[in-house]
Amino acid sequence: MNLNFPQMKELVMKLHDERRLEACEYRSLLLCEDRSVIESLHEAARETAVRKFGRNIYIRGLVEITNICRNDCLYCGIRKSNGNIPRYLLAEDEVLGCCRNGYSLGFRTFVLQGGELSESSDGMIERLCRKISGEFPDCALTLSLGERSEDSYRRFREAGASRYLLRHETIDPGHYSMLHPERMSLENRLHCLHLLKKYGYQAGTGIMVGSPFQSVGNIVGDIIFIGEYQPEMIGLGPFIPHRDTVFAGYWKSPASILPGKTHEEEAMDLTLKLISIFRLMLPDSLIPATTALATLSSDGHEKGILAGANVIMPNLSPPAVRGSYSLYDSKASSGAEAAEGLDELKLQLDSIGYKMTADRGDFTAS
Ligand code: SAH
Repeated sequence: MNLNFPQMKELVMKLHDERRLEACEYRSLLLCEDRSVIESLHEAARETAVRKFGRNIYIRGLVEITNICRNDCLYCGIRKSNGNIPRYLLAEDEVLGCCRNGYSLGFRTFVLQGGELSESSDGMIERLCRKISGEFPDCALTLSLGERSEDSYRRFREAGASRYLLRHETIDPGHYSMLHPERMSLENRLHCLHLLKKYGYQAGTGIMVGSPFQSVGNIVGDIIFIGEYQPEMIGLGPFIPHRDTVFAGYWKSPASILPGKTHEEEAMDLTLKLISIFRLMLPDSLIPATTALATLSSDGHEKGILAGANVIMPNLSPPAVRGSYSLYDSKASSGAEAAEGLDELKLQLDSIGYKMTADRGDFTAS
């Protein structure tokens, strides 16, 4: 469907007013290369975020508790079969130390993220949840530890975790199987997302944007899925190749969704459009300007916020292990991406007229 300029602007207004579009209309927005239409999309999303949250950005302290993973996702640098990185698992006291440091810096949400540990680690994770929620009753605890059993999700929830991030990555089973080994299935991932809601987590899902083999049709499917699932949080980051994966050279191939752009430009453009689309679809949702966005561009945080994002997740992990949590090449973990670089982040936000808030920022429907 080729729409002219006024029709494209009308689509933005329609999304703003009705909170949903037809599949072919999402497609037109994603493929649109007209700067003024794209700017009006970002502007509508930005205004929606400001109306709901003010010019306040929630900060979440990210503790990367382990890079040990039983999975072998083809795109991920900490996949099981990568023998080139030293593996670590933080001791419980180290994780608590990160949280204490974060608390003194003003964080009121901690996100424990990591590779997928085996079920035998469930007791340790449960204990950690209990200790953190016991010591910091005024803080929210988020987990991002991949696919677990129903019993594990239930135990972690009872132990004090109240939010969980699990990107579905792609809703197309064929595409899913091109990014994951045979033993993983989209079906199980969706089952996990169902369980998270069942046990009362505020749930986050999302995708990598510009991932190998991804088509514009795949992304439209993801938009529709996310609209139906109604997550409280939506994680959208550009795909960035990792040198030790089969996709190491992916950026050398031509971009396919927005021909004429590089992969980096395409992923940036589509990620920002998606942030805006989701802000308009689900105005109350919590949408981070992700580390991957900040890795791709030095002003990635600012761009994400100006497109409608309202969360930043600085890194609270011990500096010594940050290099080993290498999901993708050159992953940012210093400066404004680091908890100890909050002053730099403040300046970034200040430059666009926003400020951080210490509020724990629970999801509230308006
Ligand atoms: N193991 C957990 C959490 C760690 S991975 C999980 O799978 O949920 C966190 C996120 O990093 C993944 O959901 C994926 O979307 C993202 N990621 C992994 N490899 C990436 C890459 N090469 N480029 C960009 N994002 C990547």
